[in-house]
Amino acid sequence: MQNYIDLARKNGITLLDTGRCQFCGANTIKGVHECVEIFNLGFQSLDYSKAENHIYRFISVDAHTLQHPEIHGRWNNHFHLLRLHLIFRYHMAWNYELSPKLSDYLNAYKIDKQHEFLTPPAISKRGHITTTDVLSHSESASACKEMIKKWGQEVYQSWGNYHILVDEIAKGFMEKTKSIKKK
Ligand SMILES: [Zn+2]
Repeated sequence: MQNYIDLARKNGITLLDTGRCQFCGANTIKGVHECVEIFNLGFQSLDYSKAENHIYRFISVDAHTLQHPEIHGRWNNHFHLLRLHLIFRYHMAWNYELSPKLSDYLNAYKIDKQHEFLTPPAISKRGHITTTDVLSHSESASACKEMIKKWGQEVYQSWGNYHILVDEIAKGFMEKTKSIKKK
């Protein structure tokens, strides 16, 4: 995420330093910079050393990325929407070993799909819940988890135009991981 300023420049986007986050509408004072900072701090009521909490980190990363595609590379949309799809639609128990496997799968998929681009929903139409909402519910771990789940769901639904597309990739990935397990 430290390169988000460079990425915005590359994407021809001017980052605004004041007011609400220009991408997700979070209730910030310093704009997207504050939004990214809140996200990077990771909602500290959650103890990420516990494996059962990792899922909330994955969902947060996916939700934040898909709300801010202008400060990410274009293939990140595929990756993060796919992961949310696998988590929400197929209830896949995600873990840190699966992410690089999904990246590898997507890298192979990309070869024949060089021109495939997921057009993001309009700004401010990427789910109502934002980083500042999660932060204001992070006094207790259970409230924070609940909020992160809702955040992920809202963002996932807002990208509904591509659920069919990612479902095809998801099925291929699940087949592949099954065959890896059998070996
Ligand atoms: Zn934001």
